[in-house]
Amino acid sequence: MASERIYQNYINGEFVAAQEYFDVYNPANGQLLSRVPESAPADVERALGAARSGQKPWARLPAVERAAFLHKLADAIRGEAKTLARVITEEQGKISGLAEIEVNFTADYLDYMAEWARRIEGEIIESDRANENIFLYRKPIGVVAGILPWNFPFFLIARKMAPALVTGNTIVIKPSEETPNNCFEFARLLDGVGLPAGVFNVISGGGASTGNAMTASPLVDMISFTGSVETGSAIMRNAAEHIVKVNLELGGKAPSIVLDDANVDLAVKAIRSSRIINTGQVCNCAERVYVQRGIAEEFTDKVARAMADTTYGDPLAQPDVEMGPLINRGGLDKVAAMVENATRSGAEAVTGGSIADLGQGFHYQPTVLSGCRSDMEIMRREIFGPVLPIQVVDDLDEALALANDSDYGLTSSIYTRSLASAMQACRELDYGETYVNRENFEAMQGFHAGARKSGIGGADGKHGLYEYTRSHVVYMEI
Ligand code: NAD
Repeated sequence: MASERIYQNYINGEFVAAQEYFDVYNPANGQLLSRVPESAPADVERALGAARSGQKPWARLPAVERAAFLHKLADAIRGEAKTLARVITEEQGKISGLAEIEVNFTADYLDYMAEWARRIEGEIIESDRANENIFLYRKPIGVVAGILPWNFPFFLIARKMAPALVTGNTIVIKPSEETPNNCFEFARLLDGVGLPAGVFNVISGGGASTGNAMTASPLVDMISFTGSVETGSAIMRNAAEHIVKVNLELGGKAPSIVLDDANVDLAVKAIRSSRIINTGQVCNCAERVYVQRGIAEEFTDKVARAMADTTYGDPLAQPDVEMGPLINRGGLDKVAAMVENATRSGAEAVTGGSIADLGQGFHYQPTVLSGCRSDMEIMRREIFGPVLPIQVVDDLDEALALANDSDYGLTSSIYTRSLASAMQACRELDYGETYVNRENFEAMQGFHAGARKSGIGGADGKHGLYEYTRSHVVYMEI
């Protein structure tokens, strides 16, 4: 394919060539899209060195001046929203409508985080001494290594760089090797608004190579990572060497509890759309359902029919489809193997249950599995595909116990008309987030954080902003 693009790393305010490159493909049709740098340790050191040199001058700017760059970037993103959405759809496979939502939400997020510039607050603390003042400052941590997954690749750049930059840090981003193109487009727009050199850098490359070199470097002060639990563990091991702060947003296995008194149609609509959005590749979408016995048949029947009606295919060739492909062959094979394992263990595929043969691309049929049990892999491991396993329960207590019996603790949901049941669930669900009578997504002013293996720290809102600061307490006797 002659027209593929070649992207270059963005280091110290310049696009620079690398020694080696790798190919990026469209998961819907296998088309070669671009060649991007496989960054070597020397590229990593160069990018981190640029971020280090740029950090002190950046932190000396008033926060409101730093924020002005984020506002300008937000405007530039809105101006190219359709083109950027296409870049995301091409390399990630999400439908165009969702890609456009991601782009516009990213612009809004940049504006939102920029608005914190005048609201970053320290504290004055009462002293035990007569003539002393105790001041608690919030200061930048320094150089942040931001490592991204592929599922919301454009938004996640902003989720890390916006709070990092407004609080005076500099950052080096490594996008996923599946979806680097949109990140280089982000860098192009940032370059266009005149951001000082070294404040924002992008290097692409593999996880075990480039990602490992970044997180092992002594030049890093904080690692902000979104991705799988396995990679999170590897990153923590590297961080331990130099005692570096980690912020980890890891996987989920969100339970959805549907009680007898729920509005069934609302539950069906919300859970089905959460399971097909981004082809089920969302950290906080319904990954397992616990439905109460009295409405189990009605719910299963309705959700299976709604799933079966889902249209899917190549989102650029067929703009009306509701669902695109899975990200790659590995993702498709994993989903297929998990469903096979479940049906072998006694689950029944009420609809779907197989790889979809569209001639090209990594497509899986929208699938509903009934008769699932809590000891099955499908109820315990993250699926990351359009597959909804359902287990019948007798009451709320049983549902809560099963929901909490998980390595993951990111998000959860409950469908009920009873305030008492909803409040009991909020008290007893051991999760970072709970949705009542709806599913994802979270709000930018909330705080997205997981319990247990779903992560450490969180993102969004005031608490997400302060993740990128450290305290400095001054005792002043004067
Ligand atoms: P992944 O862990 O395979 O890869 C994520 C990133 O880590 C990639 O950039 C990869 O190159 C890099 N990486 C891999 N090995 C590395 C290593 N040894 N050292 C440093 N970097 C390394 O995850 P993925 O498949 O890209 O993303 C899917 C996962 O992300 C799912 O588990 C999903 O739940 C999770 N996720 C979580 C959130 C959240 O907010 N909690 C949001 C989106 C995705």
